[in-house]
Amino acid sequence: MLTPTSATEPYPTDRGSLPTNRPPQPRTAEEELRMLRSKVRELELINESAHIRVRELESELATLSASGAASLQAPPVGGMVSRSQPPPMTPQFAASWKARYDARIRLFCSLNRAGNALCAWHDSRRERRAHPPRMAPPGTLNCGCTYDEALFEESLARHGVGSYHPGENVRMDPALRNPLLRLLQERFAYRDGDFERDPHTGGWVEGEGHAIWEARALAGTSGHRKHRVGESR
Ligand SMILES: [Zn+2]
Repeated sequence: MLTPTSATEPYPTDRGSLPTNRPPQPRTAEEELRMLRSKVRELELINESAHIRVRELESELATLSASGAASLQAPPVGGMVSRSQPPPMTPQFAASWKARYDARIRLFCSLNRAGNALCAWHDSRRERRAHPPRMAPPGTLNCGCTYDEALFEESLARHGVGSYHPGENVRMDPALRNPLLRLLQERFAYRDGDFERDPHTGGWVEGEGHAIWEARALAGTSGHRKHRVGESR
């Protein structure tokens, strides 16, 4: 949102800022111009954000009117929920998404006993960690991968792209996984959970709601790690 403080601040008086004893004077033309320019910029920003909102609403409207009529005729192009016409997202679903995401972070990105949080790929390797135990920056694992990269790895594996657990054959190398994630994020605004949404309704497919993930996170932080080799590393 706009922060109008700088643009709409009361016009500063000369007192205190100039070492003169001039009495307060009417604004000079130059000051007036500067103020008007700043006002113009502010209005441009408001206009810009209003236009963006209009486009969002138009898109929502198109989805709403299309979902009734077209759902029986043509499925959306591509498996991924299209960002150009996203299904209407209720506040409840947004909250569910956030809760699901947080639960998955707890499950897949928590520290092991040695103080390391690692993606599955790096957990299976003895490479030097990018960050010492408990010293990874926020949103980052000790291996240097981000939370989102780790969740992406897990989500890909559940859709048959690479394996997640050690001992399984084909693993998703971060050298492929991370650029693929960036591409999907840039092109489709991918977020963790997109692969688990029903492309028609936009809701979770069965077994993917936040409550299930929260239960897994509660029960599974240690259970999950039992699968992982090298916990002491
Ligand atoms: Zn990693």
